[in-house]
Amino acid sequence: MAVSGLGPYDDTNIFARILRGEIPCRKVAEDAFSLAFHDIAPQAPVHVLVIPKGAYVSLSDFSANASDAEIAGFFRAVGAVAKLLALESPGYRLITNMGPDSNQEVPHFHVHIMGGRNLGRMLPA
Ligand code: 5GP
Repeated sequence: MAVSGLGPYDDTNIFARILRGEIPCRKVAEDAFSLAFHDIAPQAPVHVLVIPKGAYVSLSDFSANASDAEIAGFFRAVGAVAKLLALESPGYRLITNMGPDSNQEVPHFHVHIMGGRNLGRMLPA
């Protein structure tokens, strides 16, 4: 599905390859709707990516085109992974980048779960 700022879904992207098992990842959790794994270049003591199993380029694509079951399953998984990582009490931050202004690198929708220290203000001044 084409989305403004991003092309149609490219199934050679790195997360599609991880989902197909062509490239290894440090898996945290997996269910019918999602896969969670450690980011290869962590920006915080805990930096985990959660991706849907379906082929969606971004949050815009996912929110418009995924089924209710996929959306519910995915966001329940994000909360469950944060809990599994013991981040609920100290707290955590979710980030999702969408399109050029966000510098989205990988064109498969994903949520970053970040925590393990006080993350400061939302964006650098
Ligand atoms: P984006 O900028 O698209 O929101 O974030 C993409 C994230 O994917 C980056 O934080 C980057 O470090 C991570 N990443 C890129 N390639 C790989 C990979 O092969 N394995 C893992 N685990 N993470 C990756």
